[in-house]
Amino acid sequence: GTEITKNFIENFIDEDNASNKYGKRVHTRFPPEPNGYLHIGHAKSICLNFGIAKKYGGLTNLRFDDTNPSKENTEFVESIKKDVKWLGFDWGDRLYYTSDYFDQIYEYAVKLIKLGKAYVDDLTSEQIKAYRGTFNTPGKESPYRNRSVEENLRLFEEMKAGKYADGEKVLRAKIDMASPNINMRDPVIYRILHATHHRTGDKWCIYPMYDFAHPVSDAIERITHSICTLEFEDHRPLYEWCIQDWEDPEGQLPRQIEFARLNVTKMVMSKRKLRVLVEKGIVSGWDDPRMPTIAGIRRRGYTPESIRDFCDRIGVAKADSVVDISLLEYCIREDLKLKAPRIMTVIDPIKVVITDYPDGKTETITAENNQENEAMGTRQMTFSKNIYIDRKDFMEEPVKKFFRLAPGREVRLKYAYIIKCEEVIKDADGNIVEIHCSHDPESMSGTGKNANRKVKGTLHWVNADDAVDIETRVYDYLLKDADTDDEEETDSKDFLSQINPHSLDVYHSKAEACIKQYKAGDHFQFLREGYFVIDPDTTEDHIVVNRIVGLRDTWAK
Ligand code: ATP
Ligand code: MG
Ligand code: MG
Repeated sequence: GTEITKNFIENFIDEDNASNKYGKRVHTRFPPEPNGYLHIGHAKSICLNFGIAKKYGGLTNLRFDDTNPSKENTEFVESIKKDVKWLGFDWGDRLYYTSDYFDQIYEYAVKLIKLGKAYVDDLTSEQIKAYRGTFNTPGKESPYRNRSVEENLRLFEEMKAGKYADGEKVLRAKIDMASPNINMRDPVIYRILHATHHRTGDKWCIYPMYDFAHPVSDAIERITHSICTLEFEDHRPLYEWCIQDWEDPEGQLPRQIEFARLNVTKMVMSKRKLRVLVEKGIVSGWDDPRMPTIAGIRRRGYTPESIRDFCDRIGVAKADSVVDISLLEYCIREDLKLKAPRIMTVIDPIKVVITDYPDGKTETITAENNQENEAMGTRQMTFSKNIYIDRKDFMEEPVKKFFRLAPGREVRLKYAYIIKCEEVIKDADGNIVEIHCSHDPESMSGTGKNANRKVKGTLHWVNADDAVDIETRVYDYLLKDADTDDEEETDSKDFLSQINPHSLDVYHSKAEACIKQYKAGDHFQFLREGYFVIDPDTTEDHIVVNRIVGLRDTWAK
């Protein structure tokens, strides 16, 4: 029979169901901070959180983790909603904001103060850092650590009332300054920030820190399994500390589970760095087709199915690893292979005149829409004396193993005749402007006497009489090196030196006439060239296409 292997998160859930820890509930959340656009790493987290809940008949919340008012805005909120939907996931009526809980989180902090578990500190952030110590040395207690509950309540109230300037005071958890885990050395849980919040406006001038707001929000929403990335593993004791005094009606407090974040070769995977690319104009925006953002890969022509397939294939691991970008490319080829129409487009055209073909004659040719999927049917193309082929399909002095067109050589035009290069026409500077060919009139594919005559090369082409001028954008990777850009490791300057300065080539191409009937977002295979999508820059009289990926498939060997 088929063996169903479960990932380690599913094993945890099975254990929790067996022990009835959550009354067999599975409730996950996807908690983005609305400070940028989502990227493919987030897609992994989305697929994981929504996917696991679905598998167990559970629920998933979409929660905006909006505790950092200076960097967040509604443009990002809207883009995130759009991207999650596009990926095919539905949060139903479970859309939440951490800022909705500011009152509850505040009340809970007051409770901790009353329990003697939190205190207001007057040390500066530099002092707090210095007092915290290092891995080898214990931290030093703040002189304000033993303030009375009454004084802490009064000061925290005054912080909230706006009596103090940014940074003047903080609220800290009172845990253990000698803990071997630095995260447990009295972390700051509230700070003063006089900033306008995109949802709560000026109501608050104190904001909870992520490490406090996050577990409390999970508890408020009665999340069962709080799935996050590996860098939070050391924060887990703090996560548990933060919610230990939370009163859940059924005593079911969430648990944090960490998994390895996704890194992909050739891709920058950090919102902070992506923002630098946008702000410096290195890309045209968050949705530039070279960007690893969901908006970028969507515009590039990736489908939601291909991204979900990718996330399935990479699986969930507990150790960090880097996935080769060729796997992502494999997934889109697989998805489009049978569903994208295959048409002919000459990316970098050069004119071919078939000198012995009658002037003014047009033949109609029937072409298959997808050689691997007969159900997609056929279409009509035209053929005439003047056609275009791709510049790379001709060599005046052919190198070894070049089996395409060259002086004196024959090639077959796909669906049409065998032609032979008779003459190369050049301009005054020696550039090739036209190729003159003869043809074998008996060689028409499917009908001619020589229909099956074999020649070494078969080329794609378009009829010059009805070809459509289009703009083709061919992309290269944004990062030069094979290595991925590792999250916070490199600083912004280093990372900019890794950027490939030639990641976009624009061609004035000639497409088969049928392209006019398609619209932005439609996908194709251009025969012998790769997979393409019509870009939203397309207007009534100017079609723009993006190359998604070439045909070469180095993955599935
Ligand atoms: P970045 O580091 O790129 O700025 P982030 O982690 O700060 O991303 P959040 O908005 O906080 O971004 O992330 C929302 C969720 O997505 C979090 O649960 C986070 O763990 C997850 N996530 C972010 N990046 C990745 C990644 N590369 N792989 C898997 N999950 C990720
Ligand atoms: Mg974050
Ligand atoms: Mg981050």
